[in-house]
Amino acid sequence: MSSGPGSANSCTSWRSMTDVLVVGAGLAGLAAARDLSRAGADVVLLEARARPGGRVEQETLPDGRVVQLGGELVGEFHTAYVDLAAELGLTLRPSYVAEPGEMTFDLTDGVHVGDGYPWMTDAERADRERLATLAAELARSVDPDDPWSHPDATRLDRLSVNGWLREQGALPAVVRAREVAHLSLSGGSGERTSLLSALRMDAAAGALGVYDLEAWESMTVAEGSATVALRMAEELGERLRLEAVVRRIAVDGRVAVTLEGGERLVAGAVVCAVPVGPLRDIAIEGLSPARLESLHRQRHARAGKYAVAYAASFWRRQGQNGLAESENLFGSTWPQGEGLLSVLVPPERLLHHVSAAEPVRRAELIAGLERVFGPDAGDPDALLTRDWGLDPFTQGYVTQWAPGDVMAVGPLHGTHEPPFYVAGSDHWVAGYMEGAVRTGRAAARAILAA
Ligand SMILES: Cc1cc2nc3c(=O)[nH]c(=O)nc-3n(C[C@H](O)[C@H](O)[C@H](O)COP(=O)(O)OP(=O)(O)OC[C@H]3O[C@@H](n4cnc5c(N)ncnc54)[C@H](O)[C@@H]3O)c2cc1C
Repeated sequence: MSSGPGSANSCTSWRSMTDVLVVGAGLAGLAAARDLSRAGADVVLLEARARPGGRVEQETLPDGRVVQLGGELVGEFHTAYVDLAAELGLTLRPSYVAEPGEMTFDLTDGVHVGDGYPWMTDAERADRERLATLAAELARSVDPDDPWSHPDATRLDRLSVNGWLREQGALPAVVRAREVAHLSLSGGSGERTSLLSALRMDAAAGALGVYDLEAWESMTVAEGSATVALRMAEELGERLRLEAVVRRIAVDGRVAVTLEGGERLVAGAVVCAVPVGPLRDIAIEGLSPARLESLHRQRHARAGKYAVAYAASFWRRQGQNGLAESENLFGSTWPQGEGLLSVLVPPERLLHHVSAAEPVRRAELIAGLERVFGPDAGDPDALLTRDWGLDPFTQGYVTQWAPGDVMAVGPLHGTHEPPFYVAGSDHWVAGYMEGAVRTGRAAARAILAA
């Protein structure tokens, strides 16, 4: 791949008309551009950064271990992603979900090791089961592709997940467990998550009533999840232009895209595959006001990630599987490979965390890991960090659906206004790699059909 003729820093203009311009070389834009290009369309993929992949990114440590700094895990119902990985000649292996040992709960009043909520009483655990059954029943009534048609959609959307639990008479420990789980996923507190959005997400996974790790996170690409993006970028070659920051998209029968620096490109159609945050920084003209309002009504949870490398998975000796949910600095940890821990800092804690100097941040993180995994956690070989929430070309982490947001975004969500097409995980039920691949390929199909 190359920045190609007429890169953002050059004065040259591409004046010829392209069939399709794709904006954003994350998994969605790459999948769309790849399918269009394989079908014979003339495609140019414009990417602001100096690398493809967006929210999937990997680095190789001096000892050869490949570390994932963005998206990693998929589940069996993530069929678009699984199929694409196979097409690209990549293999899926079991994720941390198959790790031996038990998980750890790092609560403000103590650390508990054990699966099945060892910090709860039998009555609280039974109440949690009761509410999971009720949630599954309710999820079965929601169409993940059309949650707006639910007869009680407005009320379910206004209710927060935790508010609904309280309405159902949940014991306080059950609400607490749900909140810990929410922060572990870093998509926003249960107090700030629409019940309808949570039901929609669960309905897409088969209405299980809880966020089931087996369903959502049981596999990962053995060659490294960012390799999925790198393979597609290789296939696209010079059709991918790096360091091409899009500043304006004007739709008027055809599409004119203006880059930072003033270069203007014209095409028959555009696939806009940038997250909803950076999308607000692009001037968009010629779309219906309703569509623009819907696109601009979406938001992200702004989280951060650490990857911490140790010589070995020492936590196994202690009966721990590396998976932890925490009420302290980070929301969760899980092992991504031998000696490697992933750590997510949820939006509710990220700003506080990044407001400290770098050495303080590091010390806070290590202290948190020592509390959960003991003194061996105190001396990592490497510590890599990505504050995705503050990155100008992500401005988030995954889509957050606050109470009221599903109805406010409305049924235009994930739909196109030809010749303006959307792709990206923000346009699926949840901000996952599956959503990116699924919507990217769907946008390509829609363009080819048109
Ligand atoms: C820390 C972290 C952990 C995650 N873990 C998981 C996981 O385990 N499993 C899972 O399924 N998902 C996970 N996700 C989510 C998943 O990675 C994303 O949902 C998915 O990769 C998004 O792909 P996308 O193509 O929609 O968007 P992105 O990957 O964000 O791609 C958008 C691209 O647009 C570019 N862009 C932005 N603005 C402009 C502009 N003005 N001009 C040109 N280009 C622009 C960006 O640079 C970027 O390359 C995680 C995400 C993060 C950050």
